[in-house]
Amino acid sequence: MADKILEFVHTSTGKQIAAALGLPVPPLLKRAKAGYAEKSLANSNALVGASAFGPVATAVVKALNAMGASIKVSADLAGLDGIKQAAAKAKVDVSISQADNGVPENVYVLDVTAAANVADLRLLYDFFNPRLRKVPSNSRIVVIGRPRGDCKDALAETAQSSLPGFIRSLAKESGKNGTTANLIQVKTGAENGIEGALRFFLSPHSAFVTGQVLPVVGAPKGVKVAAFSEKPLTGKLAVVTGAARGIGAAIAEVLAREGATVIGVDRPADESVLGTTMSSIGGIACPLDITDADAGKKLAAVAAQKGGKIDIIVHNAGITRDKMMRNMAAHLWDMVLDVNLGAIVRCNDQLLAGDAFGSNARIVCISSIGGIAGNAGQTNYAATKSAVIGYVDAMAKQLEGKGISINAIAPGFIETQMTAAIPVVTREVARRLSSLSQGGLPVDIAEAVTFMASPLAAGVNGATLRVCGQNLVGA
Ligand code: NAD
Repeated sequence: MADKILEFVHTSTGKQIAAALGLPVPPLLKRAKAGYAEKSLANSNALVGASAFGPVATAVVKALNAMGASIKVSADLAGLDGIKQAAAKAKVDVSISQADNGVPENVYVLDVTAAANVADLRLLYDFFNPRLRKVPSNSRIVVIGRPRGDCKDALAETAQSSLPGFIRSLAKESGKNGTTANLIQVKTGAENGIEGALRFFLSPHSAFVTGQVLPVVGAPKGVKVAAFSEKPLTGKLAVVTGAARGIGAAIAEVLAREGATVIGVDRPADESVLGTTMSSIGGIACPLDITDADAGKKLAAVAAQKGGKIDIIVHNAGITRDKMMRNMAAHLWDMVLDVNLGAIVRCNDQLLAGDAFGSNARIVCISSIGGIAGNAGQTNYAATKSAVIGYVDAMAKQLEGKGISINAIAPGFIETQMTAAIPVVTREVARRLSSLSQGGLPVDIAEAVTFMASPLAAGVNGATLRVCGQNLVGA
């Protein structure tokens, strides 16, 4: 379902009408046209700051340099010395500029992991205040802090706790021109996961992700954070459930773009659509109802036939059967609980019991904003999507010792058949409530899933990332 208003206001007539009537113009988001390039920031001006010299500042400078950005640090900032030292340690050139030198930056990365008291938070103001008046469209802002529980005392934890609120507000202020703002909370010792997270957040692959907090906690035991490679999923076998259409088909396409061989699963009734989707990406169609009691064993057998173990599984298949709780028939409750939750748990249990996962396997589950914000008429659906968030958190701890990671993506309002069914006025309001004034596309979910499924997210485990344009409306 296309967003006709977004399309219209970007035509020449539409621009004139919008200007004459003073209508808001949702930005055109710059989305990725291809996979991750090694020098993805080759044409970017990145302004960096750090509250102190340390491993995070060094990792940031190294990562931006590896991405090909032109790195600047501002002479007026308290953090100047931290970055200069980090650059010297990383043997990377940075240029020193004045606050307002007329050259607009399109990438902003601020390391405030050393902020340990209220006074240290002044750097947030000093870094952003002079610069945010002329940010180019589709710019990227990332702040890096520490998670709660990883601070030396209560005061440091208090200072670090300011960052989610700060970034969520900055994202709401910045989204009008497609700029995103996100927070990475890196655990001490997990700094080698920063580059992967930056590659996602600073690129067009995260066009619809804004106002979010991504914890980087470190890779599971025995898993090394690999150096960046283009087509990072080459040689990987990936299973995607619900792959015939919608978001699942987009996930299958993007995983294949990054080099994976995809086994696409969907209901036997959808076999011909599934076949078409899979043949377009050189994938393998596997008609299977995921609520089948032996679905996990069957998937393991299909993978074994293809000569391998499962490196990636994306539990995407999902259904809605909306009714107010008071009117909901028991079978609608049971059906939604089984497809969206029971099947995921059973399938993973069978794959684990059968030793069907490859080493360093990555599991990605699809949750929903509905499971976070709740929707009238969706008690069954929201219960399952909320449970998925707890499931990945609990399973990450359980699987950590096996070298397997598990994370979730929570889509917001995505332009699919599901959201096209929403009444027109509600749909229009829901779309525009996002910080980016529009709904997302299936490819936005696919990009985030692919990030979570790839070595770029090696340090991310047990997390749920919202892909919603900072909207709390979603199926
Ligand atoms: P969709 O209905 O277009 O596609 C879902 C796919 O899952 C279909 O191909 C369907 O045949 C398959 N499926 C359903 N039950 C199955 C079963 N028992 N066995 C095998 N396959 C089965 O939905 P979508 O919009 O692409 O949603 C994909 C996922 O994203 C779902 O988990 C959904 O809850 C979630 N989600 C979607 C939105 C949105 O705005 N569209 C928002 C939040 C979350």
